[in-house]
Amino acid sequence: MAHLFFDLDRTLWHHERNHFRFFEALHGARNWSEWGSSDAWAKSYLEINDRLWDHIQLHNLSVDYVRARRFPLLFRHMGLPVDRSKEFEVLGAECEQLLKMQLPDMGEGYNGVSEAFKALREAGHQLHVVTNGVREPQRRKIAALGLSDFIEELVTSDVARSYKPDPEIFHYALRSTGAQAGESWMIGDSVLRDVLGGQAVGMRTAWFRADDALPPDAEATPELEFRDWREFPGQLEAAIRG
Ligand SMILES: [Mg+2]
Repeated sequence: MAHLFFDLDRTLWHHERNHFRFFEALHGARNWSEWGSSDAWAKSYLEINDRLWDHIQLHNLSVDYVRARRFPLLFRHMGLPVDRSKEFEVLGAECEQLLKMQLPDMGEGYNGVSEAFKALREAGHQLHVVTNGVREPQRRKIAALGLSDFIEELVTSDVARSYKPDPEIFHYALRSTGAQAGESWMIGDSVLRDVLGGQAVGMRTAWFRADDALPPDAEATPELEFRDWREFPGQLEAAIRG
């Protein structure tokens, strides 16, 4: 039996696809087509959002920093006309509220995740999530994916007060599950946050490389690498048996 700690965004929950869906509805409702397609809006939002997240993860700032800035920056980037910057703030707050209400209930995931989770649990493993994110929306994303019943502990950066790859959040996860690092695996899409972060506290690591993944954010040698969730349970068993 092993403790398996999964990253959520871009590992289980399809960050890009869910945002494209959210922006399709928002873009239509706001009549923004004069200022670019809904895909162009989503793409720019994701770039701005990722940049702001890099900043808060580096400086251990709250997610509020991102929430106050991402939409106003997006409006400017897309050239939305406005008389006063105050209007961007008001419109930004409205969009932020919609995002808070809708996005975490969108359930586009990667193929084969629930089958993999079923197999992993039948093999006797304990499944947890460790994610840089806010507890309530992350809990809703897990529910939208249909994975709530599989997950024993959800560890989020807002509660642990540190972001992966800071060892503190991994120690927090190990403490709250009673797991030993040596019997634990960190599984995620980010080499920097999941693979190097897990390795630094003595966890075994698996790197998920989806076909549409972002370019690698660091270099490391994970014990296991996979592109398809349907292959993961078998690969993990082979690695555990050594
Ligand atoms: Mg991720």
